[in-house]
This record gives sequence, C-alpha cells and structure tokens, in this order.
Amino acid sequence: MINSRVITDLLPVVQPMVQAFINACAAADIDLIITSSYRDAESQDALYAQGRTTPGYVVTNAKGGQSYHQYRCAVDVCPIVNGKCVWDTTQPIWAKVSTIGKAQGLEWAGDWVSFKEMAHFQYTGGLSIADLQSGGTIV
Ligand SMILES: [Zn+2]
Repeated sequence: MINSRVITDLLPVVQPMVQAFINACAAADIDLIITSSYRDAESQDALYAQGRTTPGYVVTNAKGGQSYHQYRCAVDVCPIVNGKCVWDTTQPIWAKVSTIGKAQGLEWAGDWVSFKEMAHFQYTGGLSIADLQSGGTIV
C-alpha cells in the first residue's frame, strides 16, 4: 500500500505547479505541507472504506482507479500554524491557500459541487478519470 507525500511522485508536468504553490504560500507566510500526493489503488480502496466498512469519517467518494491521486496529478495539503495542521477548513487561512493554489493553475476541489475536498488540488490537463483509465496522458 503506497501513500506518498513527496512532490517527485507526481507527474513531471505537475511537480513545478505544486512547488510553485508551496513557494507562493511561503511568500505569503503560509507554511504548507503535502499530506498526500500519489496513492496506489490499494491505498485508495482503504481510504474509501473509511467511514463505510471501517471506523472514521467518509473522506472520499473515489474507489481504487477513480482518484486523481492514483494518476499522480493531485495533492492534499494542509497549512501549518504554530507547529500544527489547521484541519478546520473553515479557518480564514484556507481561503488564502485556495486562492494561491488556483493562481498556480491548479484546480481546487473546494469548488466542486458534489463532494467538496478543501484540501485537494489537482492538474488534470482537462482529462477525466475515464480518459486516464483508458491510457490518456496529462500534458
Ligand atoms: Zn485529494
């Protein structure tokens, strides 16, 4: 089960965008960490089970094969304040983080209608999960 937190496990086209995101946050005095970058199908399935067949809250609607994390083009992030992650996404710092992330060309899942994921940013090059499942390449 792989659940990576490093930029280098992302697609080459996505790495500089995420690095620019972190750098722009740093310039705004926001210490941003990646809590998840690449996840394999097994790890995604375990996350999907959370809140359904295993303890915890439901945090995703994506099973293995249905998450952009598996295609190395998505990150989950969290700002650190005084040494702790700000998990409460209603805090004002999250509005700054989302604005900065979108300014780097990333899509923010906090804008999604069906299942908002405030911590999730991605670059898909316009490709859908179906496109990626059938071998599409993000450029
Ligand atoms: Zn995510």
